[in-house]
Amino acid sequence: MIKTGIDANAFAVLKEKIQLIETDESAIYLVGPIRLPVQLFDETVVFQWYCWLNCEEVTEDYERIIEKLSAANLAEFQQSSVLVYGDFENSEDALIRMHSICHTGDIFGSKRCDCGYQLKQSMKMIMEHGSGALFYLANHEGRGIGLFSKAMAYVLQENGYDTVDANESLGFVDDARDYSDAIRVLKRLRTNPVTLLTNNPKKLTALEESGLAVSGRKSLWGDISNYNANYLQTKIDRSGHLKEDTTCPND
Ligand SMILES: [Zn+2]
Repeated sequence: MIKTGIDANAFAVLKEKIQLIETDESAIYLVGPIRLPVQLFDETVVFQWYCWLNCEEVTEDYERIIEKLSAANLAEFQQSSVLVYGDFENSEDALIRMHSICHTGDIFGSKRCDCGYQLKQSMKMIMEHGSGALFYLANHEGRGIGLFSKAMAYVLQENGYDTVDANESLGFVDDARDYSDAIRVLKRLRTNPVTLLTNNPKKLTALEESGLAVSGRKSLWGDISNYNANYLQTKIDRSGHLKEDTTCPND
């Protein structure tokens, strides 16, 4: 009989790098670590990269999962991933950034928001701290409304709406982001306390409610310009973002 699946050598290599994380009714398959040298400002920094896939099928027979990939059309459904730095599993404290994908800010360098700045700055802060992880969350475009809807929201913003009003007038809640899968992956990679890089107290609350040991929050403001001043002020006025660091999240 001719075997049509993955060849035995490739599978032997891959199965050592795949982990199953069971969720309530499905599974996360985590692949990595993969060495990823990254150009960060004026130096090359080596991160360890992991990527994950949500799947309804829960199995430790990874060959089954691998064999389904070529027909799964994954490019149509962006996957999330995480860049890890330093001795992430064992270090006493680590910096964590839960970064929401931003096509316009991260890729084009749009100045309408501060995402591109926050992405690079958080990688730099993680490297300088010596240990940490940057989660790049692919289903979070436009606070979870998707890229096309975000374009609609930008049209409204060019006509006087702020970020919150624009999303709500399109029928969305202001912030539709979910962090549960990222938290599951984080818990697999590390159990020691983390410091969260964010200006958003809701992210801090989501992590704490998941039972994660959070030791505090570090702010991430910068790159303020005429183009994003209103956007940033709306984050403070309407979405409860904070400018200061929080050392003890329970205060
Ligand atoms: Zn952005």
